Amino acid sequence: MCLGHTYNLACGHSLLQFSERCERKCAVPTGESTYIQDTCAPCDPSFRVEQIIRAYDQKIRQAQEEHRIALQHKKHGEIRAAYERVEKLFTDQRKEVAEVRKLGAACPEVIWPGKAVDEC
Ligand SMILES: [Zn+2]
Ligand SMILES: [Zn+2]
Repeated sequence: MCLGHTYNLACGHSLLQFSERCERKCAVPTGESTYIQDTCAPCDPSFRVEQIIRAYDQKIRQAQEEHRIALQHKKHGEIRAAYERVEKLFTDQRKEVAEVRKLGAACPEVIWPGKAVDEC
């Protein structure tokens, strides 16, 4: 079996650190595990904010394009619907970003093993 250390992160993921590998290359090392009050990179608030913005930007651009086409063809029903879609996307984007920022602000201090553990 492989030996190492498992760090359990606040986001529910874990970081594995192998000190010794066996032939079977186990997925999880045998040894101690430590809880860390931090998230992994994909769960990091700033990373997630960036992802949300990018995902919405794409949808917003598409809705704006639909709005532009509807205007061009003077399809009044579609103009309104497309406009509302754009507005809703902006609102949802703002809401999601605010939500992630709020979660991130709750625990801004990164605590790694070996460092002094402050109250979070
Ligand atoms: Zn192993
Ligand atoms: Zn994570």
